[in-house]
Amino acid sequence: TSMGHIIDGFGYAKGLRERLAVKVAELKATQGITPCLVVVIVGEDPASQIYVKNKGESTIAVGMDSRTITLPDTTTEADLLKLIAELNADAAVNGILVQLPLPKHMSSLKVIDAIDPLKDVDGFHVENAGKLAVGLDGIVPCTPLGSLMLLKDAVKTYGGGSLAGMNAVIVGRSNIVGKPMAQLLLNQDCTVTIAHSKTKNLKELCLTADILVAAVGRPKFIAGDWVKDGAYVIDVGINRIEVDGPDGKKSKVVGDVDFDAAKPHAKAITPVPRGVGPMTIACLLNNTLHAACLQHGLPAPE
Ligand code: NDP
Repeated sequence: TSMGHIIDGFGYAKGLRERLAVKVAELKATQGITPCLVVVIVGEDPASQIYVKNKGESTIAVGMDSRTITLPDTTTEADLLKLIAELNADAAVNGILVQLPLPKHMSSLKVIDAIDPLKDVDGFHVENAGKLAVGLDGIVPCTPLGSLMLLKDAVKTYGGGSLAGMNAVIVGRSNIVGKPMAQLLLNQDCTVTIAHSKTKNLKELCLTADILVAAVGRPKFIAGDWVKDGAYVIDVGINRIEVDGPDGKKSKVVGDVDFDAAKPHAKAITPVPRGVGPMTIACLLNNTLHAACLQHGLPAPE
């Protein structure tokens, strides 16, 4: 059987955004509703500023309304909570996203939990996390949702179609990636193992994985010989590293998996960039459209 297929997250995300744009136009034409996403950023972290700019531009590109609220890093937690309360009460606002990380003087748990769960398009509110855990419909975090879409598509294209019974190993247990990914794969009837920094014999564990998800935050941490032949590899990592170029050092983005070494073993693998990354924003827009429909008592578009 052929191996080493590259999963085109960029292309998949583009298709998803095109389908969303059609649905947004329909919603506007039939109901007079334009979904609106508000992104709140506190402070001047350069990486966060780039993410927020991309989110705003992508929101506009599918025909939705976008608002970005920029607050100085001297903002108090109380002021941020007050702003969130106003956005919760504003019927024109369908999605609220507070860009993380927040300045150290704020509790991100407290801030996220102040967002109306129906407007929590990141899916980080405890109510949405709880719904995912017990298998109720709620808002699912964007990166794991996008990862699952790519994985299902790859298994449909290159494998048996169903994820049921596959051994999934997820390296990383954060609330925003690893844990919700585990819940999603469990809901797909995978046998799920979550690994983290205290896990023993990680290489041997990874070699048992039919599905290997890397969400570690360490460049090329997963070596090629950690990947079982025929495995599906989803690399969530986004790590900026310095490499030697013809005119000195330049910076480059790599994943948590050593892509070149892993590819010959994998049945299919996501690259970095152009893998999971583009799916995150596409799923954010998807979540915003769904939230807007539910808030207006309309069925969520499939
Ligand atoms: P966190 O730092 O919150 O979590 C990292 C996880 O990796 C932790 O559970 C940690 O274990 C585990 N880990 C760290 N070192 C090791 C080790 N040596 N062995 C095994 N496990 C280890 O990161 P995130 O989940 O937020 O993000 C993970 C990666 O995904 C990052 O590269 C991030 O940039 C990227 N990312 C990409 C997104 C996208 O849009 N594609 C969105 C979000 C994140 P422990 O819990 O024990 O500390």
